Amino acid sequence: MINQDDIDAIKHGVELVSFMKARGIELHQVGGNYRGLCPFHEDTTPSLTVNPKENLWNCFGCGRAAMLSASLS
Ligand SMILES: [Zn+2]
Repeated sequence: MINQDDIDAIKHGVELVSFMKARGIELHQVGGNYRGLCPFHEDTTPSLTVNPKENLWNCFGCGRAAMLSASLS
């Protein structure tokens, strides 16, 4: 799971796909986006979509979404 320190790191501009992979979140490229298991809820099917161009992510499972520069809390 992602903790507050990790969220702070994201806020400070860490590139999102690299950051999530470094945290052991497997991301698979689908078209221009990446999909993987959401770290914010108990996910059994890949609900998390990451847009590396916009540094945006959103989760279809728990409905969380954020930009890197915006609050993730
Ligand atoms: Zn989620």
